[in-house]
Amino acid sequence: MSRCIICFTDILPEVSWINFFKPPKEEKMCGRCIGRLEKIEIPGCPKCYRIDAQGVCFDCRRWEEVHEFADVLERNVSLYHYNDFAREIVARWKYRGDFILIEAFAEALQTKHNEQFLSREADYVAIPLSKERLKERGFNQSEALISLLGIQAVDFFKRKGSEKQSKRGRRGRMGAENPFLLVKDRVARPVVLVDDIYTTGSTVRNLAVLLKRAGCPSVSSLTLFR
Ligand SMILES: [Zn+2]
Ligand SMILES: [Zn+2]
Repeated sequence: MSRCIICFTDILPEVSWINFFKPPKEEKMCGRCIGRLEKIEIPGCPKCYRIDAQGVCFDCRRWEEVHEFADVLERNVSLYHYNDFAREIVARWKYRGDFILIEAFAEALQTKHNEQFLSREADYVAIPLSKERLKERGFNQSEALISLLGIQAVDFFKRKGSEKQSKRGRRGRMGAENPFLLVKDRVARPVVLVDDIYTTGSTVRNLAVLLKRAGCPSVSSLTLFR
């Protein structure tokens, strides 16, 4: 018997005539925890997977006005709504270094990735953390998620100074200075950015604008929660 990686309750293997002769699949998450995640089947906004929108949302339209290119971020695809349960899980890996929890999402992430991204070649670029943040957390969630896809993450970016983003408000973040530096002169292939959450979109869009300026044909993102 295995235990749920999130809540530690025992997972009872489900026996039916379909799997009676096969060894049961090793589940990482119990049925109750799976039930508390809200899958985004049909996104409200097709560009960012916001659920409470009909068509391209206000934030996406506003971002387009701010940037010098059209379609800086081609689209963001997310797996689940960032609800209270998701917030609890993310807090455990963000502030308590409980990175093993990320593994609970391996299969769902691979499935979504195969559905949405497998049609073309791309570089999977890790989102850099500041040194302090990396030290405090002990791992980079973006790299961890890329490795769950069986892909080697590439480093195209550096961070300027420290990370104070989470302390700033939503409006402050949209107009704030870009905290990243691209360390390549030219980016010839499409890029997929992978992260745990898409909140305002400022992180992926700040990265995307630098990639586009270096000639990147398209930038999209895959995030667990939205
Ligand atoms: Zn559970
Ligand atoms: Zn949107």
